[in-house]
Amino acid sequence: MIHSNITVSDDGHLCFAGRDTVQLAEKYGTPLMLIDEDRVRERASTYVAAMREYFGEGSAPLYASKALSCVAMYKIVGSEGMSVDVVSSGELYTALKAGFPAERIYFHGNNKTADDVRYGLDSRIGYFVADNLDEVERISVMAGERGMTQPILLRLTPGIDPHTNEKISTGKVDSKFGTAIETGQAEQLIARVLTMPGIKLCGFHCHVGSQVFDQYPFCDAADIMIDFMAHIEQSLGYRAEILNLGGGFGVRYVDSDPYIDIRDTIRLIAEHINNRCAEHGMPVPRILMEPGRSIVADSGMTVYTVGSVKTIAGYKSYVAIDGGMTDNPRYTLYGSKYTVYNASRADAPADFKCTVAGRCCESGDLIAEGVSVARPQSGDKLAVAVTGAYNYSMASNYNRVPRPPIVALRGGADRVIVRRETYADMVACDIDE
Ligand SMILES: *Cc1c(COP(=O)(O)O)cnc(C)c1O
Repeated sequence: MIHSNITVSDDGHLCFAGRDTVQLAEKYGTPLMLIDEDRVRERASTYVAAMREYFGEGSAPLYASKALSCVAMYKIVGSEGMSVDVVSSGELYTALKAGFPAERIYFHGNNKTADDVRYGLDSRIGYFVADNLDEVERISVMAGERGMTQPILLRLTPGIDPHTNEKISTGKVDSKFGTAIETGQAEQLIARVLTMPGIKLCGFHCHVGSQVFDQYPFCDAADIMIDFMAHIEQSLGYRAEILNLGGGFGVRYVDSDPYIDIRDTIRLIAEHINNRCAEHGMPVPRILMEPGRSIVADSGMTVYTVGSVKTIAGYKSYVAIDGGMTDNPRYTLYGSKYTVYNASRADAPADFKCTVAGRCCESGDLIAEGVSVARPQSGDKLAVAVTGAYNYSMASNYNRVPRPPIVALRGGADRVIVRRETYADMVACDIDE
């Protein structure tokens, strides 16, 4: 099994977090999204403890809540001591609804609207992570109108060459995110920001990319950021107190993916940063990180019911499930690979090669191609592993398919944290005159 929270019961059913997924599917219906809450908590507390230990007090992980945003998730990660980042007013609203402490909320995004800025300011959030000059000006003016001084970080692009690691593509200079160091524009921006009323510049942010399995890209980005911070202290007399290194620790989706040890990797990044700061004779800033996927991905599993199994003579076999791109668009969007199990026959050999297809009117509505599972029959439950991140949060109602419920599993108990959408929900916004 791809992760330790996936096992097989005596009667051959796939278990997740120790629970029989076939029984859960019968209880709640399918498609069904399961979340192993114990594992989410374990991941969150690992980040919190490791960052405190290796980077010191004041350093903390923010949960990148775009990975899975719902009221329960903010409560869970909040109670484990994480801060959060939000990218929209909708995510901010959800966090506040969950009672998440506003001062531990960081507002991200490359284009915050005036409404976003107003909502963040009026909610007294901790920080905006400002992307560009237009945005800083908006925050400055609107905070000034309220007589506030709003703490901000600036998102910079360290200009990491994506060729050193193909997975890294958001930290390069040519990106819709942030302001580039290499072109001199970051320094110009900082010089401007330091003169603006209504805001307090607290430090810098960078994010190198996703699915990173070792410390090196973070160390490379940290080197560029720390060297730049030392330079800014010399040229502008400004010392940044915070360095936010973004998210991106990788997660194992299929057997060929590696594992990353969160605690160990944080230790290695910390050693590297401490040395670099010492070389510049500068104090180590407060370090923030923004894990999303590595908090919640392998805590998720989606269970479907097989509708039909169709073998096209001379071609291949299609297994049609009662969900698809509406609850998991990642294969359609990126060709992302997943591990699939026949949950009803998890003890049988996985020797039936097939393509798993959704039910939307799109031939691209697939969950996986060329995967091997125990030969399924109509009515079997099919489980897709590692669906906790960027599945539900990217789900849609295409073809007016209601979104599945999310059921959290904790200490042997199960509870609905997001209910299944109804057909009434499908027309809730329609005006019927
Ligand atoms: C997406 C994103 C993250 C989270 O990335 P993961 O790969 O899910 O850990 C963190 N910070 C920023 C700015 C992001 O865009």
